[in-house]
Amino acid sequence: MILDCAIIGGGPAGLTAGLYTTRGGLENVTMFEKGMPGGQITSSSEIENYPGVTGEITGMDLMMPWPAQCQKFGLKHEMVEVTRISKDGDTFRIHRADGTIDEAHSVIIGTGSRPRHIGFAGEDEFFGRGVSTCATCDGFFYKGKEVVVIGGGDTALEEALYLSKICSKVYLIHRREEFRSAPNTVDRVKKTENIELVLNSVPDEVYGDNMGVTGIRVKNNDGSLRDIEVPGVFTFVGNDINNQTLMQEDGNFLCDMNEQGQVIVDISMKTSVVGLYATGDMRVEAPKQVVSAAGDGAVAALQVISFVDELLN
Ligand code: FAD
Ligand code: NAP
Repeated sequence: MILDCAIIGGGPAGLTAGLYTTRGGLENVTMFEKGMPGGQITSSSEIENYPGVTGEITGMDLMMPWPAQCQKFGLKHEMVEVTRISKDGDTFRIHRADGTIDEAHSVIIGTGSRPRHIGFAGEDEFFGRGVSTCATCDGFFYKGKEVVVIGGGDTALEEALYLSKICSKVYLIHRREEFRSAPNTVDRVKKTENIELVLNSVPDEVYGDNMGVTGIRVKNNDGSLRDIEVPGVFTFVGNDINNQTLMQEDGNFLCDMNEQGQVIVDISMKTSVVGLYATGDMRVEAPKQVVSAAGDGAVAALQVISFVDELLN
């Protein structure tokens, strides 16, 4: 039996796609998720910016009801890793890690992305307890306090500017003298009074106590060390997109991607391949938020309902 739609990834994007496709009338939809559904937000200890959800809740609390809501409308869930998505004529082939293959008329992919880690002492130990890779998510927790930002690209500088409006002071640590970021962004950063540039420096160790981070030691290229006492450290040294399932046997991607490996989509989440939609953190210009990933899933699902209807009727 050919699936109406295969959904790859069970984060906010995939789960919302599952809800909208099944509730919208598709009877034969399977979501392939390699772990427990919920996505990367389940590792967050607090989420404050999902609209309508108030009170102190964890990412796990937020995502807990989503799978059951989808299953109520008939979404099937396979807890398997997908290794490749290919297309043969009009039919997509979903290659499972165990070597078996499912077929589908359409695919919605939402396998997310992962922020790169730097690898300094304490980075993993304090991740989620003072070390963060998301200013929109966690910046507010440091309102009126001092924070450190690490990185010299557009993301680091834009997030430093964002944090400078919330926090009393931002130390921007970068390993070189020159920034990779756009010149006008660099100018804005340099003109912002509460951003201090700490150049030619790399993080050596982040430290703290049971409550979380209390400071970071940075090492200048000349070997000198400096301690900066802050409760929050934000790292922005690039992202890796989980796009491996789109890689074909010939080494090319199934659909068009940009240089960062993000899937190119239009505002309907359509990729360059008919019947393939990409959603959430893995697509170009993604705001990397739960609410936007969920929105993408809904947009793609509405497209898929019409697409499958036209294909089969
Ligand atoms: P993901 O959530 O990454 O889900 C992708 C899913 O695909 C995963 O479950 C993964 O297991 C699965 N998958 C990947 N590859 C395969 C494969 N080959 N086969 C099968 N399954 C696969 N956003 C906010 O809006 N507010 C916040 O406060 C906030 N805080 C955050 C805190 C942390 C610590 C982190 C890491 C992120 C935070 N975010 C926050 C960002 C938010 O989590 C993401 O933007 C959102 O989860 C993206 O959803 P997604 O569905 O695109 O991808
Ligand atoms: P990026 O451009 O790759 O920059 C990563 C930064 O982190 C670089 O400054 C790099 O230093 C530094 N870095 C990398 N590894 C490090 C390590 N191990 N230790 C210390 N520092 C390290 O990543 P990005 O800023 O996330 O941007 C990704 C892409 O998105 C870029 O093309 C960017 O232009 C684009 N983007 C555009 C906008 C916009 O147009 N408004 C906004 C955000 C992102 P070096 O410079 O020394 O290599």
